[in-house]
Amino acid sequence: MTALAETLKRRIRADGPMTVAAYMAECLMHPTQGYYTTRPPFGAEGDFITAPEISQMFGELMGLCLAQSWLDQGAPAPFTLAELGPGRGTLMADILRATRAVPGFHAGMRLILHEASPALRDVQKATLQGYAPEWIEDVSALPDQPLFLVANEFFDALPIHQYVRLGGLWRERLVGLQGGDLAFGLSPDPTPAAPAPQFAADPDGSVVETCPAARPYVAAITQRLARHGGLALIVDYGGWRSKGDTLQALKDHAFADPLAEPGRADLTAHVDFEALALGWPAAHYTSQGAFLTALGIDARAARLAQGLSGAALHSHLAAHRRLTDAAEMGSLFKVLGLSAPDCPPPPGFSPKGS
Ligand code: SAH
Repeated sequence: MTALAETLKRRIRADGPMTVAAYMAECLMHPTQGYYTTRPPFGAEGDFITAPEISQMFGELMGLCLAQSWLDQGAPAPFTLAELGPGRGTLMADILRATRAVPGFHAGMRLILHEASPALRDVQKATLQGYAPEWIEDVSALPDQPLFLVANEFFDALPIHQYVRLGGLWRERLVGLQGGDLAFGLSPDPTPAAPAPQFAADPDGSVVETCPAARPYVAAITQRLARHGGLALIVDYGGWRSKGDTLQALKDHAFADPLAEPGRADLTAHVDFEALALGWPAAHYTSQGAFLTALGIDARAARLAQGLSGAALHSHLAAHRRLTDAAEMGSLFKVLGLSAPDCPPPPGFSPKGS
Protein backbone atom coordinates (compact mmCIF):
# COMPACT_ATOMS: atom_id res chain seq x y z
CA MET A 1 0.00 0.00 0.00
CA THR A 2 1.51 3.31 -1.00
CA ALA A 3 0.91 6.68 0.69
CA LEU A 4 -0.60 7.92 -2.55
CA ALA A 5 -3.10 5.02 -2.54
CA GLU A 6 -4.36 6.26 0.84
CA THR A 7 -4.55 9.84 -0.44
CA LEU A 8 -6.52 8.77 -3.52
CA LYS A 9 -8.93 6.54 -1.56
CA ARG A 10 -9.71 9.41 0.79
CA ARG A 11 -10.36 11.63 -2.18
CA ILE A 12 -12.64 9.05 -3.84
CA ARG A 13 -14.59 8.56 -0.60
CA ALA A 14 -15.12 12.32 -0.41
CA ASP A 15 -15.68 13.22 -4.06
CA GLY A 16 -16.62 9.98 -5.83
CA PRO A 17 -14.76 8.03 -8.54
CA MET A 18 -12.14 9.86 -10.60
CA THR A 19 -11.40 9.66 -14.31
CA VAL A 20 -8.48 7.53 -15.50
CA ALA A 21 -6.85 10.82 -16.58
CA ALA A 22 -7.10 12.31 -13.08
CA TYR A 23 -5.75 9.05 -11.61
CA MET A 24 -2.84 9.01 -14.05
CA ALA A 25 -2.01 12.68 -13.40
CA GLU A 26 -1.92 12.10 -9.62
CA CYS A 27 0.17 8.92 -9.94
CA LEU A 28 2.78 10.59 -12.13
CA MET A 29 2.88 14.17 -10.93
CA HIS A 30 1.47 14.42 -7.37
CA PRO A 31 3.80 17.05 -5.85
CA THR A 32 5.04 14.87 -2.98
CA GLN A 33 3.90 11.31 -3.77
CA GLY A 34 4.00 11.15 -7.59
CA TYR A 35 6.17 8.85 -9.65
CA TYR A 36 8.21 11.48 -11.50
CA THR A 37 8.39 13.84 -8.54
CA THR A 38 9.81 11.30 -6.07
CA ARG A 39 12.16 8.91 -7.88
CA PRO A 40 14.73 8.60 -10.66
CA PRO A 41 12.74 6.41 -13.04
CA PHE A 42 15.31 5.70 -15.74
CA GLY A 43 18.17 3.35 -16.38
CA ALA A 44 19.11 -0.06 -15.10
CA GLU A 45 18.33 0.92 -11.50
CA GLY A 46 14.99 2.50 -12.49
CA ASP A 47 11.82 1.00 -13.92
CA PHE A 48 12.41 1.49 -17.63
CA ILE A 49 15.09 2.53 -20.09
CA THR A 50 14.55 4.95 -22.95
CA ALA A 51 16.18 5.15 -26.40
CA PRO A 52 18.68 7.93 -25.57
CA GLU A 53 19.77 6.01 -22.48
CA ILE A 54 20.31 2.87 -24.60
CA SER A 55 22.78 4.48 -27.01
CA GLN A 56 24.23 7.87 -27.94
CA MET A 57 23.37 7.06 -31.57
CA PHE A 58 19.69 7.89 -31.00
CA GLY A 59 20.36 11.50 -29.97
CA GLU A 60 23.11 11.98 -32.53
CA LEU A 61 20.81 11.03 -35.40
CA MET A 62 17.94 13.13 -34.05
CA GLY A 63 20.36 16.05 -33.86
CA LEU A 64 21.56 15.56 -37.42
CA CYS A 65 17.97 15.31 -38.65
CA LEU A 66 17.09 18.61 -36.96
CA ALA A 67 20.26 20.33 -38.18
CA GLN A 68 19.78 19.12 -41.78
CA SER A 69 16.20 20.36 -41.75
CA TRP A 70 17.40 23.69 -40.29
CA LEU A 71 19.95 23.99 -43.14
CA ASP A 72 17.31 22.99 -45.72
CA GLN A 73 15.14 25.84 -44.43
CA GLY A 74 17.90 28.41 -44.91
CA ALA A 75 19.50 28.25 -41.44
CA PRO A 76 17.06 30.69 -39.80
CA ALA A 77 18.42 32.51 -36.74
CA PRO A 78 17.50 33.08 -34.03
CA PHE A 79 15.58 29.84 -33.59
CA THR A 80 14.36 27.68 -30.71
CA LEU A 81 15.83 24.27 -29.97
CA ALA A 82 13.34 22.73 -27.56
CA GLU A 83 12.66 19.48 -25.75
CA LEU A 84 9.53 18.30 -23.98
CA GLY A 85 10.15 15.98 -21.00
CA PRO A 86 13.97 15.81 -21.24
CA GLY A 87 14.41 13.20 -18.49
CA ARG A 88 18.09 13.16 -17.53
CA GLY A 89 19.03 15.49 -20.40
CA THR A 90 20.85 12.71 -22.26
CA LEU A 91 19.01 13.15 -25.56
CA MET A 92 19.63 16.91 -25.62
CA ALA A 93 23.29 16.44 -24.66
CA ASP A 94 23.75 14.04 -27.61
CA ILE A 95 21.88 16.40 -29.97
CA LEU A 96 24.12 19.29 -28.91
CA ARG A 97 27.31 17.26 -29.30
CA ALA A 98 26.27 16.01 -32.75
CA THR A 99 25.41 19.52 -33.99
CA ARG A 100 28.48 21.30 -32.62
CA ALA A 101 30.17 21.34 -36.01
CA VAL A 102 27.14 22.69 -37.91
CA PRO A 103 28.11 26.32 -38.64
CA GLY A 104 25.76 28.80 -36.95
CA PHE A 105 23.52 26.21 -35.30
CA HIS A 106 24.65 26.70 -31.70
CA ALA A 107 25.18 30.42 -32.17
CA GLY A 108 21.61 30.91 -33.41
CA MET A 109 19.76 28.69 -30.98
CA ARG A 110 17.85 29.44 -27.82
CA LEU A 111 17.66 26.23 -25.78
CA ILE A 112 14.27 25.70 -24.15
CA LEU A 113 13.21 22.77 -21.95
CA HIS A 114 9.80 21.86 -20.57
CA GLU A 115 9.94 19.60 -17.51
CA ALA A 116 7.39 19.14 -14.73
CA SER A 117 9.62 17.40 -12.20
CA PRO A 118 11.87 19.70 -10.12
CA ALA A 119 14.20 16.76 -9.37
CA LEU A 120 14.68 16.05 -13.09
CA ARG A 121 15.16 19.76 -13.83
CA ASP A 122 18.17 19.65 -11.49
CA VAL A 123 19.57 16.61 -13.31
CA GLN A 124 19.07 18.37 -16.66
CA LYS A 125 20.83 21.47 -15.36
CA ALA A 126 23.88 19.36 -14.46
CA THR A 127 23.88 17.38 -17.74
CA LEU A 128 23.56 20.48 -19.90
CA GLN A 129 26.02 22.66 -18.00
CA GLY A 130 27.55 25.25 -20.27
CA TYR A 131 24.58 25.47 -22.64
CA ALA A 132 22.39 27.87 -20.61
CA PRO A 133 19.03 26.12 -21.08
CA GLU A 134 15.84 27.92 -20.05
CA TRP A 135 12.86 26.06 -18.59
CA ILE A 136 9.31 27.01 -19.48
CA GLU A 137 6.36 26.09 -17.25
CA ASP A 138 3.85 26.22 -20.04
CA VAL A 139 4.25 25.33 -23.70
CA SER A 140 2.52 28.57 -24.70
CA ALA A 141 5.77 30.27 -23.60
CA LEU A 142 7.71 28.79 -26.53
CA PRO A 143 9.30 31.79 -28.27
CA ASP A 144 7.54 33.07 -31.38
CA GLN A 145 10.28 32.08 -33.84
CA PRO A 146 11.39 29.03 -35.89
CA LEU A 147 11.03 25.91 -33.75
CA PHE A 148 13.09 22.73 -33.81
CA LEU A 149 11.73 20.41 -31.14
CA VAL A 150 12.12 16.85 -29.87
CA ALA A 151 9.98 14.83 -27.50
CA ASN A 152 10.88 11.24 -26.70
CA GLU A 153 8.50 9.25 -24.50
CA PHE A 154 6.82 12.47 -23.37
CA PHE A 155 3.33 12.13 -24.85
CA ASP A 156 2.87 8.59 -23.47
CA ALA A 157 3.04 10.07 -19.97
CA LEU A 158 0.20 12.56 -20.54
CA PRO A 159 -3.07 11.58 -18.88
CA ILE A 160 -5.62 9.73 -21.05
CA HIS A 161 -9.35 9.30 -20.75
CA GLN A 162 -10.82 5.87 -21.52
CA TYR A 163 -14.31 5.16 -22.83
CA VAL A 164 -16.22 1.91 -23.32
CA ARG A 165 -19.11 1.45 -25.76
CA LEU A 166 -21.94 -0.62 -24.31
CA GLY A 167 -25.49 -0.94 -25.66
CA GLY A 168 -24.65 1.73 -28.22
CA LEU A 169 -23.70 4.26 -25.51
CA TRP A 170 -20.26 5.49 -24.52
CA ARG A 171 -19.35 5.55 -20.82
CA GLU A 172 -16.16 6.85 -19.31
CA ARG A 173 -13.98 4.43 -17.38
CA LEU A 174 -13.41 5.61 -13.80
CA VAL A 175 -11.27 4.64 -10.83
CA GLY A 176 -13.39 4.05 -7.72
CA LEU A 177 -13.46 1.76 -4.71
CA GLN A 178 -14.54 -1.85 -4.39
CA GLY A 179 -14.30 -3.49 -0.97
CA GLY A 180 -11.92 -0.72 0.10
CA ASP A 181 -9.53 -1.27 -2.83
CA LEU A 182 -9.03 0.86 -5.92
CA ALA A 183 -11.02 -0.63 -8.80
CA PHE A 184 -12.08 0.31 -12.33
CA GLY A 185 -15.74 1.08 -13.00
CA LEU A 186 -17.86 2.99 -15.50
CA SER A 187 -19.58 6.34 -15.21
CA PRO A 188 -23.30 5.95 -14.56
CA ASP A 189 -24.10 8.64 -17.14
CA PRO A 190 -23.20 8.05 -20.78
CA THR A 191 -21.24 10.70 -22.65
CA PRO A 192 -23.45 12.66 -25.07
CA ALA A 193 -21.48 11.67 -28.19
CA ALA A 194 -18.55 9.52 -29.32
CA PRO A 195 -15.39 10.58 -27.44
CA ALA A 196 -13.91 11.65 -30.78
CA PRO A 197 -15.44 11.63 -34.29
CA GLN A 198 -13.12 8.88 -35.59
CA PHE A 199 -14.63 6.45 -33.05
CA ALA A 200 -18.28 7.07 -34.02
CA ALA A 201 -18.64 3.76 -35.92
CA ASP A 202 -16.76 1.58 -33.43
CA PRO A 203 -18.75 -1.52 -32.41
CA ASP A 204 -20.15 -2.40 -29.02
CA GLY A 205 -17.51 -3.52 -26.55
CA SER A 206 -14.89 -1.14 -27.96
CA VAL A 207 -12.54 0.64 -25.58
CA VAL A 208 -11.00 3.87 -26.87
CA GLU A 209 -8.69 6.48 -25.43
CA THR A 210 -8.35 10.23 -25.83
CA CYS A 211 -5.60 12.54 -24.65
CA PRO A 212 -6.88 16.12 -24.44
CA ALA A 213 -3.74 17.08 -22.50
CA ALA A 214 -1.72 16.65 -25.73
CA ARG A 215 -3.71 19.27 -27.63
CA PRO A 216 -2.17 22.46 -26.23
CA TYR A 217 1.30 21.07 -27.02
CA VAL A 218 0.50 20.28 -30.63
CA ALA A 219 -1.36 23.58 -31.04
CA ALA A 220 1.61 25.59 -29.71
CA ILE A 221 4.04 23.65 -31.93
CA THR A 222 2.05 23.87 -35.17
CA GLN A 223 1.37 27.57 -34.61
CA ARG A 224 5.13 28.26 -34.57
CA LEU A 225 5.74 25.94 -37.54
CA ALA A 226 3.05 27.64 -39.59
CA ARG A 227 4.40 31.12 -38.89
CA HIS A 228 8.14 30.58 -38.87
CA GLY A 229 8.99 27.04 -40.01
CA GLY A 230 10.93 24.38 -38.17
CA LEU A 231 10.49 20.71 -37.34
CA ALA A 232 9.08 18.73 -34.41
CA LEU A 233 10.19 15.11 -33.96
CA ILE A 234 7.86 13.22 -31.65
CA VAL A 235 8.96 9.68 -30.79
CA ASP A 236 6.84 7.33 -28.75
CA TYR A 237 5.25 3.94 -28.62
CA GLY A 238 1.81 3.64 -30.17
CA GLY A 239 0.14 3.66 -33.56
CA TRP A 240 -1.89 5.56 -36.12
CA ARG A 241 -5.26 5.42 -34.34
CA SER A 242 -4.75 3.59 -31.11
CA LYS A 243 -7.62 1.42 -29.97
CA GLY A 244 -8.27 -0.63 -26.90
CA ASP A 245 -7.14 -0.34 -23.32
CA THR A 246 -3.43 0.51 -23.48
CA LEU A 247 -2.95 1.89 -19.96
CA GLN A 248 0.12 0.16 -18.64
CA ALA A 249 2.20 0.17 -15.49
CA LEU A 250 5.93 -0.66 -15.42
CA LYS A 251 7.89 -1.36 -12.29
CA ASP A 252 11.41 -2.82 -12.13
CA HIS A 253 11.36 -3.40 -15.93
CA ALA A 254 8.21 -5.59 -15.68
CA PHE A 255 4.50 -4.98 -16.26
CA ALA A 256 2.45 -4.32 -13.15
CA ASP A 257 -1.21 -3.73 -12.23
CA PRO A 258 -1.90 0.02 -12.84
CA LEU A 259 -3.97 0.23 -9.65
CA ALA A 260 -1.68 -1.79 -7.36
CA GLU A 261 0.94 0.77 -6.35
CA PRO A 262 0.00 4.30 -7.36
CA GLY A 263 3.07 6.56 -7.36
CA ARG A 264 5.56 3.66 -7.39
CA ALA A 265 5.07 2.36 -10.93
CA ASP A 266 5.38 4.28 -14.17
CA LEU A 267 2.03 4.69 -15.91
CA THR A 268 1.81 5.24 -19.67
CA ALA A 269 -0.55 4.73 -22.59
CA HIS A 270 0.00 4.19 -26.31
CA VAL A 271 0.19 7.42 -28.25
CA ASP A 272 -2.50 7.83 -30.89
CA PHE A 273 -0.46 9.61 -33.57
CA GLU A 274 -3.48 10.28 -35.78
CA ALA A 275 -5.09 12.29 -32.98
CA LEU A 276 -1.76 13.95 -32.19
CA ALA A 277 -1.23 15.09 -35.79
CA LEU A 278 -4.68 16.74 -35.68
CA GLY A 279 -4.97 16.69 -39.47
CA TRP A 280 -1.80 18.84 -39.80
CA PRO A 281 -0.99 18.86 -43.54
CA ALA A 282 2.77 18.37 -43.13
CA ALA A 283 2.81 15.30 -40.88
CA HIS A 284 5.40 12.60 -41.62
CA TYR A 285 5.14 9.25 -39.90
CA THR A 286 7.32 6.16 -39.79
CA SER A 287 8.67 3.56 -37.41
CA GLN A 288 11.69 4.27 -35.19
CA GLY A 289 13.60 1.45 -36.92
CA ALA A 290 12.94 2.82 -40.42
CA PHE A 291 13.70 6.39 -39.29
CA LEU A 292 17.06 5.58 -37.71
CA THR A 293 18.02 3.33 -40.62
CA ALA A 294 17.19 6.05 -43.17
CA LEU A 295 19.34 8.49 -41.17
CA GLY A 296 22.32 6.13 -41.35
CA ILE A 297 22.43 4.32 -38.00
CA ASP A 298 24.09 1.27 -39.59
CA ALA A 299 27.07 3.30 -40.76
CA ARG A 300 27.31 5.16 -37.45
CA ALA A 301 27.11 1.88 -35.51
CA ALA A 302 29.86 0.32 -37.65
CA ARG A 303 32.06 3.37 -37.09
CA LEU A 304 31.59 3.27 -33.30
CA ALA A 305 32.16 -0.51 -33.28
CA GLN A 306 35.67 -0.02 -34.69
CA GLY A 307 36.89 1.36 -31.37
CA LEU A 308 35.27 -1.33 -29.21
CA SER A 309 35.93 -4.92 -28.20
CA GLY A 310 34.72 -7.51 -25.72
CA ALA A 311 31.77 -6.61 -23.49
CA ALA A 312 31.63 -3.01 -24.73
CA LEU A 313 31.31 -4.19 -28.34
CA HIS A 314 28.70 -6.74 -27.37
CA SER A 315 26.57 -4.14 -25.60
CA HIS A 316 26.98 -1.65 -28.46
CA LEU A 317 25.71 -4.25 -30.95
CA ALA A 318 22.83 -5.13 -28.62
CA ALA A 319 21.91 -1.42 -28.31
CA HIS A 320 21.87 -1.02 -32.10
CA ARG A 321 19.52 -4.01 -32.37
CA ARG A 322 17.35 -2.80 -29.54
CA LEU A 323 16.76 0.58 -31.16
CA THR A 324 16.04 -0.71 -34.67
CA ASP A 325 14.92 -4.36 -34.64
CA ALA A 326 11.22 -4.95 -35.32
CA ALA A 327 11.12 -7.45 -32.46
CA GLU A 328 12.44 -4.82 -30.02
CA MET A 329 11.76 -1.04 -30.23
CA GLY A 330 12.04 -0.74 -34.02
CA SER A 331 8.39 -1.07 -34.97
CA LEU A 332 6.50 -0.50 -31.71
CA PHE A 333 8.02 2.98 -31.47
CA LYS A 334 7.00 5.52 -34.09
CA VAL A 335 8.31 8.89 -35.19
CA LEU A 336 5.97 11.72 -36.08
CA GLY A 337 7.62 14.61 -37.88
CA LEU A 338 5.62 17.82 -37.97
CA SER A 339 7.04 20.40 -40.36
CA ALA A 340 5.82 23.56 -42.04
CA PRO A 341 3.65 22.80 -45.06
CA ASP A 342 5.88 24.67 -47.54
CA CYS A 343 9.22 23.30 -46.24
CA PRO A 344 11.32 20.55 -47.82
CA PRO A 345 10.37 17.19 -46.24
CA PRO A 346 12.55 16.34 -43.22
CA PRO A 347 15.21 13.65 -43.61
CA GLY A 348 14.46 10.19 -42.21
CA PHE A 349 10.97 9.79 -43.62
CA SER A 350 10.05 8.19 -46.93
CA PRO A 351 9.40 10.78 -49.68
CA LYS A 352 5.65 10.04 -49.58
CA GLY A 353 5.54 11.12 -45.92
CA SER A 354 2.91 9.09 -44.08
N1 SAH B 1 12.74 12.10 -22.88
C1 SAH B 1 13.42 11.39 -21.80
C2 SAH B 1 12.47 11.09 -20.62
C3 SAH B 1 11.20 10.37 -20.91
S1 SAH B 1 10.19 10.10 -19.46
C4 SAH B 1 14.07 10.14 -22.35
O1 SAH B 1 13.79 9.79 -23.47
O2 SAH B 1 14.86 9.53 -21.62
C5 SAH B 1 9.03 11.43 -19.51
C6 SAH B 1 9.60 12.79 -19.20
O3 SAH B 1 8.54 13.74 -19.32
C7 SAH B 1 10.15 12.98 -17.80
O4 SAH B 1 11.21 13.89 -17.86
C8 SAH B 1 8.93 13.54 -17.06
O5 SAH B 1 9.26 14.18 -15.85
C9 SAH B 1 8.39 14.48 -18.10
N2 SAH B 1 6.96 14.77 -17.98
C10 SAH B 1 5.95 13.87 -17.87
N3 SAH B 1 4.76 14.51 -17.84
C11 SAH B 1 5.02 15.84 -17.97
C12 SAH B 1 4.21 17.01 -18.02
N4 SAH B 1 2.88 16.91 -17.93
N5 SAH B 1 4.82 18.20 -18.16
C13 SAH B 1 6.17 18.29 -18.26
N6 SAH B 1 6.99 17.23 -18.20
C14 SAH B 1 6.43 16.00 -18.06
